[in-house]
Amino acid sequence: MTKTDLMPSLLIRNIKTLVQAEVNPRKVVKGADMAIVPTIHDAYLLMENGRITGFGAMDTCPERADEVMDATGRMVFPSWCDSHTHLVFATSREEEFVDRIRGLSYEEIARRGGGILNSARRLQETSEDDLYHSALERLYEVIGYGTGAIEIKSGYGLTTESELKMLRVIRRLKEVSPIPIKATFLGAHAMPVEFKENREGYIDLIINEMLPKVAEEKLAEYCDVFCDRGFYTVEETDRILKAAAGYGLKAKIHANELDYSGGVQTGVANGAVSVDHLEYTGDAEIEALLGGDTMPTLLPGCAFFLGIPFGPARKMIDAGLPVVLATDYNPGSAPSGNMPFVVALGCIKMGMLPEEAINAATINGARAMELEADYGSIAVGKVANVFITKPIPSLAYFPYAFGKNLVESVVLQGKAWTTPRQ
Ligand SMILES: [Zn+2]
Repeated sequence: MTKTDLMPSLLIRNIKTLVQAEVNPRKVVKGADMAIVPTIHDAYLLMENGRITGFGAMDTCPERADEVMDATGRMVFPSWCDSHTHLVFATSREEEFVDRIRGLSYEEIARRGGGILNSARRLQETSEDDLYHSALERLYEVIGYGTGAIEIKSGYGLTTESELKMLRVIRRLKEVSPIPIKATFLGAHAMPVEFKENREGYIDLIINEMLPKVAEEKLAEYCDVFCDRGFYTVEETDRILKAAAGYGLKAKIHANELDYSGGVQTGVANGAVSVDHLEYTGDAEIEALLGGDTMPTLLPGCAFFLGIPFGPARKMIDAGLPVVLATDYNPGSAPSGNMPFVVALGCIKMGMLPEEAINAATINGARAMELEADYGSIAVGKVANVFITKPIPSLAYFPYAFGKNLVESVVLQGKAWTTPRQ
C-alpha cells in the first residue's frame, strides 16, 4: 500500500471460510461443476481502491492495512447477484394475496383486472419522485440481505409515458446506487385493457414508439417480454425481440411460468442473455438451452408464493446446464428481495446442493447480467462487494437455517456499508 491510494485499504482477517475464492475466475458454472465452490479456511481478504487485491491463508496475511476487520468464526461470501427484479413499483398488493387464499388463481385475478394491470394502474398515478424514493428504500433493503449487483425491470407502465417514467427512476437509482444496476425494458409485461381487442396496436406502440425512445435516452440494456399462456405469443415475442435487437437491446425474457409456452426456445433463438422463470421446463427446453449460451434462471420465491411447481433445477443441472437463482422481487408474485431465502428455497424445494445454490446466486447470476468479469466471486481485480456472515458452523448451515438473518455486515467497493437515512 502506498500513500497514493485513493481510498483506505480494508483487510478482513481470521475469516473462518472465504467462499467462492477463485484463482482462475470462471465466466459461468455448469452441470457437475455447480457442486464445487472453491473455499479457503482460516483466510484473509485484502481490498484496495474498491477492488479485491489479495486473499489467501492467514499464514500469508499482510501485516497491515488502513482498516482491519476481524471475522473470527464468520464466513465471507461474494455479494449475491440478483439478475431478475421488479424493484420499482407503486404499492404492495396484499389484497390479491388474500383473494388467492380465498381460492382465486393468479390468472383469475389477472383476468379481473388485478395482477400486473393493477400495478400498472397504480404506477401510472404515482409520481416519479415517489417511485424513486420507495424503490431506493427497497434497494437498500436488499443490499442488507447481501445483494451486491442487481437487475431492475420496467413493465408496470404499459404506456409510453409510464414505461419511460419507470426507466428514468431506474436511471436515478443507478446514479446513487453503491451496487451496479442493469435496466430492462419490459413494455410487453401484460396487455393493457384498452388494447385487449387490438393486440397489434399495442405491439406496434412498443416497437414504433417505446423502443425508439428507450434507445434514444439510453434507458435500458435489455428488452424483456412475458412470453407465456395468456400473455404474449411466441410470434409476438419474436417480433418485439428482433425490433429491440435493432436498437442494441439484448433479450432477457419471462418464459414458461404458466405453460410449455415455447418461450425458452424463442429466447435461445434470439440469443437471449437469460430466460427466466422456467417452472415448465421439459426435455425440449433443456435441449434448446444446451445448444446456446442463454442462462436459465429460476425464481423459486415466485413458485413458493404462488404455490405453482418449482423449476426443475436438479434435472437441468444433471443435464449439464448452468442454473441461476434470482428473487423476482415484485408486488404480485414474489414480494421479497431476500436472496438468502431464495438460496434456501433452491436447496429445500428444488433439490440443489448448498454449493449449487451458491454458484447459482453468485457467479451465474453475474453472468445473467453480463457482469461476471467484475462480480460474482472473490477474485483479484474484481469489485470488492462481499458480505460477512454471523458466526456459522458450516457452509450448508446458511441455506439450512432458512429465514434466519445470517448476514452480519456488508462491504461494498471495499468499504463497510451502512444504510443511509432517507
Ligand atoms: Zn419477473
